[in-house]
Amino acid sequence: MTNIYERLGVRTIINAQGPATRLSGGIMAPEVAAAMVEASRHCVDIAELQAAASRAIAEATGAEAGLVTSGAAAGLLLGTAACVAGLDPGKMNRLPDTSGMKNEVVVARSQRNFYDHAVRAAGVRLVEAGIADRFSGAGVRDCEAWEIADAVTERTAAVLYVATPWSRPALPEVTAAAHGKGVPVIVDAAAQLPPAGNLRRFIAEGADLVAFSGGKALGGPQASGILCGRRDLIASAALQMLDQDARWELWLPPADFIDKSRLPGLPQHGIGRPCKAGKEEIVGLITALRLFVVEDPAARRARWRTLIGRLADSLQNLPGCAVALVADSTHDDMPQVDVTFQAGRSNRAALDVARELQTGNPPIYVNTGRIEEGVLRFGPMCLTEDDPPRIAARLRAVLGAA
Ligand SMILES: *Cc1c(COP(=O)(O)O)cnc(C)c1O
Repeated sequence: MTNIYERLGVRTIINAQGPATRLSGGIMAPEVAAAMVEASRHCVDIAELQAAASRAIAEATGAEAGLVTSGAAAGLLLGTAACVAGLDPGKMNRLPDTSGMKNEVVVARSQRNFYDHAVRAAGVRLVEAGIADRFSGAGVRDCEAWEIADAVTERTAAVLYVATPWSRPALPEVTAAAHGKGVPVIVDAAAQLPPAGNLRRFIAEGADLVAFSGGKALGGPQASGILCGRRDLIASAALQMLDQDARWELWLPPADFIDKSRLPGLPQHGIGRPCKAGKEEIVGLITALRLFVVEDPAARRARWRTLIGRLADSLQNLPGCAVALVADSTHDDMPQVDVTFQAGRSNRAALDVARELQTGNPPIYVNTGRIEEGVLRFGPMCLTEDDPPRIAARLRAVLGAA
């Protein structure tokens, strides 16, 4: 029996790393895939569909409004563009040229990361605040909220906050500092689900916009995401993403989504136009969001624990390695299996094994975040029922040969 990838001459992989973009995200639930197929059978007015998505996202997040984007990175670009241009179509048309506009975004230096390129793509300059002393081994401090406030000037369009369990300062302090200066806060929460409570948490802590990935633990289409937050900012983001090849008189978006009466005219195609979300992605995302919200978090964890527990069981007595079932405290105690290479096997050996797993048949991709400590980590989120014994067999073969 062949699958579509075989027919294309592409190998399918065992993804024990997790829903990385590079590894094609995760595996969608059959209900999500079916919803996308159903969506593909009809045409709709995309603004009406996005307005319906906005209501579903608002209900799930507690935000005023929401938008389905092509990913969290697209959400960062659109959210930044919204903070810069507001509801001014002239400014929208000029982006990414931000001359004469508020064109700086303040961020704690310890939160700089590769994805903030999406923020800079709107035409803004990042202004770093604080020093990540606690990460240098030299001290205990990090950026503090007063330093964020201190970095805000009349040119500041927004404060960017990258949410992780170890992010400093705490978000409520940052939103208080930013709002004290009249500046909105954009939260990158791409990978902060689970816990499911984070769907509402950042909004409740004062964030003006929050970006989530749809293709990570949410279980939506790989190329989907959520931007949620203030109604006026979501309307601006939508205006800068939606196709605008329409006559003003015939352009009739739902008023709770985009209030036409607040606009002097219709902007041209905006800076977010390349971040198109199709009807299939929008419907898939909403379906996945509903499933994620209703699944009992304990049941979700038990499902992952059972899957990865089978891998741990089948790796007993692995030569030269310690095998441990662990809870990833940086990721809502997600159950994982750590294979640690012991005496006689250098860290280099862990890297060699990772390469052999990746280049073998089937190719197996693992989490190499702790490879310097000789650890290969296996996660359950993108595994199928069949994968644990296949991983165990490959790992035994590689180590037996090593
Ligand atoms: C994954 C990730 C993104 C990008 O998310 P996409 O949905 O792939 O666009 C942005 N920021 C952080 C912190 C991420 O982990």
